[in-house]
Amino acid sequence: MYDIKALYEANSVNEAIELMQQHPDAKIIAGGSDVLIKLREGKLAGCELVSIFGIDALRGISMDEDGTLRILPLTSFSHITKDPLINEHIKVLGEAVDMVGGPQIRNIGTIGGNISNGVTSADSASTLHAWDAIVELTSAEGVRQLPIKEYYISAGKVALRPAELLTAILIKEESYAGYKGHYIKYAMRNAMDIATLGCSVNVKLSDDKKTILGARIAYGVAGPVPMRVPAAEEAVRGKPVCGETVDAFAGAAMQNINPRDSWRASRDFRLHLAHELAKRALTESIRLSGGEI
Ligand SMILES: Cc1cc2nc3c(=O)[nH]c(=O)nc-3n(C[C@H](O)[C@H](O)[C@H](O)COP(=O)(O)OP(=O)(O)OC[C@H]3O[C@@H](n4cnc5c(N)ncnc54)[C@H](O)[C@@H]3O)c2cc1C
Repeated sequence: MYDIKALYEANSVNEAIELMQQHPDAKIIAGGSDVLIKLREGKLAGCELVSIFGIDALRGISMDEDGTLRILPLTSFSHITKDPLINEHIKVLGEAVDMVGGPQIRNIGTIGGNISNGVTSADSASTLHAWDAIVELTSAEGVRQLPIKEYYISAGKVALRPAELLTAILIKEESYAGYKGHYIKYAMRNAMDIATLGCSVNVKLSDDKKTILGARIAYGVAGPVPMRVPAAEEAVRGKPVCGETVDAFAGAAMQNINPRDSWRASRDFRLHLAHELAKRALTESIRLSGGEI
């Protein structure tokens, strides 16, 4: 049984905010695939919950007039993988979230919950970092936006203020137009396992496919929070599409990362993975963009 003191169900964002103001110690629950596990483990014993799962206005994917992709936080992983806008513009996000857990988790788990738990291994997080995603947060004071990098404060902690919730994830047209990306999750087994290391890369090539105009890389589990590696991105900007450039990218990617030893893998093994996955993810992104190495 779950040790829950009270469950309050919100039907709108305003109602959720009011409930959180009335019950400041209550925890938001969306799909519950993290929260219910913690409850069962006793880590949240006796807690109050504000459920936002019934707020249909927070579910779905659309495009704003200026071309910004708007991913609402209650959108499930299975929805994202099948969504036409995602498949047309940032297919790699659909592929990344298709690696989460098993089918049941992908049906119930939400992208908002995946980034709001603050976990470095979250499969959507490195890809969202690599696309310069912006999070939209709503409270009684209004709506504010933060680059996703600033949403992550430390392991397990995100920049939510009291009675505030994540209401959208935005990816601007300038972030995705002309880019193709690839995500690699290295895990000890193919299904139902969290990433030992995750690496998401995207790239934009020149019209003749010979030059890298821009590349972005983000890792999960290479540090306490998901992280970009600007040194690698700089190392290949304006460089020819060739094996040496790919090697330079992977070499530079090692500069800022700081993985740790854990029961899942040693730091050294994660560093080895980080180098190899950077090479493979860039090579595949180049291939998807029409380039050849
Ligand atoms: C068997 C199993 C396998 C799993 N495998 C993977 C995996 O391979 N990869 C992976 O990345 N994850 C995995 N997970 C973790 C989990 O499924 C995901 O993190 C999921 O995305 C959480 O979403 P949820 O809606 O269920 O979140 P919930 O459990 O409802 O919430 C998670 C956290 O986010 C907060 N929250 C949720 N929505 C909002 C919002 N809109 N605004 C503010 N705060 C919010 C909650 O308060 C809570 O702290 C697995 C979980 C299980 C049980």
